[in-house]
Amino acid sequence: MRIVIVGAGVAGCVMARRLSRLDGVEVVCLERVARDDHSEAGTGLNVGPNAVKAVKAVDPELVDRITEASYLWHNWRISLTDGTVLFDLPLADVADGPGWRIRWSELYRVLREAAGDKVFYGCEITGIGRAASDPSKTSVTWIEDGKTRRLDDIDLLIAADGRYSAVRRTISGEPEVQQTGVAIFRLLVPDTAGGLIDDYEQWFNGPNRLLSFKVPPGHIYVAGTFPISPEAPIAESLKTPDALRAAYTPPDAEPSAQARWLIDTVCANAADTHWARMQEHTLLYRAEDCNVLYLGDAAHGMVPTLGQGATQALEDAANASALITQRYRDGVRDVAGWLADIEALRQQRMRFVMAFSLEATDTMRDGADPVAGTRHKTEAAFQNSLKALYRDVGLPLDGRRT
Ligand SMILES: Cc1cc2nc3c(=O)[nH]c(=O)nc-3n(C[C@H](O)[C@H](O)[C@H](O)COP(=O)(O)OP(=O)(O)OC[C@H]3O[C@@H](n4cnc5c(N)ncnc54)[C@H](O)[C@@H]3O)c2cc1C
Repeated sequence: MRIVIVGAGVAGCVMARRLSRLDGVEVVCLERVARDDHSEAGTGLNVGPNAVKAVKAVDPELVDRITEASYLWHNWRISLTDGTVLFDLPLADVADGPGWRIRWSELYRVLREAAGDKVFYGCEITGIGRAASDPSKTSVTWIEDGKTRRLDDIDLLIAADGRYSAVRRTISGEPEVQQTGVAIFRLLVPDTAGGLIDDYEQWFNGPNRLLSFKVPPGHIYVAGTFPISPEAPIAESLKTPDALRAAYTPPDAEPSAQARWLIDTVCANAADTHWARMQEHTLLYRAEDCNVLYLGDAAHGMVPTLGQGATQALEDAANASALITQRYRDGVRDVAGWLADIEALRQQRMRFVMAFSLEATDTMRDGADPVAGTRHKTEAAFQNSLKALYRDVGLPLDGRRT
């Protein structure tokens, strides 16, 4: 059996590592960038406790390797930029364990090392199509080291090529994108905060929100959001140090020591910020009429409000690799059946995660009241949804380790 994975990011590396352990399965993972090129991963990530739980169920050694490169995420606090605390939640109240705080480039390094020699770097995909012999199978053509290469009769093609997935566009068409009307910037800076910033925290000034936490080694990740028109690109005038200072400085009070450090740091590094508009795209786990599986952002680009992008890529990969492993070891070779089962396992869960992430964006939209909105997050309904988010991670394991 031949399995090709496109993309050695979060989901792709886990799939390559897990599926390469199956006897009789040829696994090839094609990655566009060079082995040590993390230029598209220059920020920090908070990875939810649900990803830790899901990966631990199938691959505790991988969890240990990621934990070594991380700080644990134990607490979530929300304040106003004047220092008023609105929400202070130990994750132990809603989750079965901590999450991770990690540099994105470190997560890639650990996962790519763990995926080993199944990953081929510097591969530029030039063609994806249905195999001539059997339309349920696919073929892929790429250029590597200046040479054109091709694999035919691919039994399972896994698209783990991220938010702008070329595989998904080619096989299943352009996903529909929905803007939420919130601009977001991200920044990773050396830790000069003198202990002011550590675990995961957020600070509001009206609907404008800062978020920050410390990541090893010696860096602080800062993200900021503010409402914009959903239809328009982010105006350059909103990205200047003066505009950013005005966005986060409380109008009638001094900023807290934390907020002051964050505002000064953002303004001093305004030229290095990475900007995006918060958006999501339609959910799709498998192609209609051939054996192509979409995982991670290729399946579900979502708003980053609850830090579930990489988290769900890990949860997807843990679940999909566990299911495929079990079916394969049980002698089931019906790939279309595997994909239908993965979709059944993941679709409802992802609808919940995407809807909850959008719901939690309420305090960041134009005209929002962050005080009332954040207090609502201390109530049972929101906390129960958090429990479902962090605990109900699926996994068709029947107690068996794969
Ligand atoms: C600035 C920023 C901050 C974020 N913060 C968080 C956070 O705090 N918590 C969180 O959970 N998520 C966060 N996310 C989201 C998270 O990074 C993504 O959801 C996650 O990386 C998706 O994993 P993936 O495996 O689907 O794709 P990716 O990790 O994006 O991997 C895709 C891989 O495919 C490769 N690729 C793409 N096209 C091709 C091609 N044609 N051929 C071959 N290879 C290709 C890419 O080079 C890449 O290696 C953040 C995202 C951004 C941009």
